[in-house]
Amino acid sequence: MKVLIADDDKVLRMLMERQLQGWGFEVMTAQDGAEALDILKTHEEPPRLLVLDWEMPNLDGIELCRKIITQESNDPPYIILVTAHSDQEHLATALQAGANDYISKPTKPAELRARLGVGLRTLELQNRLNIANEMLAYKAEHDELTGLQNRASLIEHLDNEIERTKRTGEPLALAICDIDFFKRVNDTYGHPVGDRVLKEFADRMRETFRPYDLVSRYGGEEFVVCCTSLEAEPIAIFERFRQVVESTPFLEKDLSLSVTVSIGIAAFNGISTLTTKEIMLELISSSDKALYSAKHSGRNQVVMYDPELHSETEESDTSITYGQTC
Ligand SMILES: [Mg+2]
Repeated sequence: MKVLIADDDKVLRMLMERQLQGWGFEVMTAQDGAEALDILKTHEEPPRLLVLDWEMPNLDGIELCRKIITQESNDPPYIILVTAHSDQEHLATALQAGANDYISKPTKPAELRARLGVGLRTLELQNRLNIANEMLAYKAEHDELTGLQNRASLIEHLDNEIERTKRTGEPLALAICDIDFFKRVNDTYGHPVGDRVLKEFADRMRETFRPYDLVSRYGGEEFVVCCTSLEAEPIAIFERFRQVVESTPFLEKDLSLSVTVSIGIAAFNGISTLTTKEIMLELISSSDKALYSAKHSGRNQVVMYDPELHSETEESDTSITYGQTC
């Protein structure tokens, strides 16, 4: 563990440095608060355990504490303030400034070592908490089976994409990709095989679409993709993916299943009087109508939404029909 010692007294600084090195710490030193702050700001992996002298030129320990805690961070350092003042008022000032602990000069080796130990335990707990939080944040945004973004994450990111298209006029294409006759896979081979097909489908999506395309599992066998910065007509982009699915059987090593996908696309060019949320709902509903049309024209095809072709009457059937037979 790296420790930063800041003390303007060279003798004390070197003494403490040697002590801490003897206890197995990797030690960095600064001769005043300004130098310490510079190390914390510029070092690639700055020390997270700090032993700061209160009275130092340029920037004293208290001011340094205040500067450190105003920097928002998930990894705040653990600060031990060292001072000759041992009265309660000074103790309160130090803790209020952001110090985690307080130790009186002259420091006694056993006490310093014990207090550093508390710091280490606190930082370790903080690390574990950060890892747990990162895992929770990941789980909240990703589909557990496929690792793709989930519906909630799609909705959140779609907001930004629509806003951007409204601002820049750069077109956006949203597509619903629905695996054909997926229910049959589950019914015939069981859900574990169905899950493997879903995973492989997700892998093919990751390989086909670009890292900045939004690729999500919307639910069941339904996946939603949002592409911006289009390099080709949306229909060509998704036709390519349809072929990627159809061209090679799934689960080749044992079962070799032929899988196809039906895709409905809706595009947005940035011109609309609707709110972002309304545009999102409109895009999802339109691509759903196009998907319905693809399913009812024989599946394994890509259909671009056309308001003149895809009438409102079909819409009322979609949610029922997809879940049951497609
Ligand atoms: Mg001093």
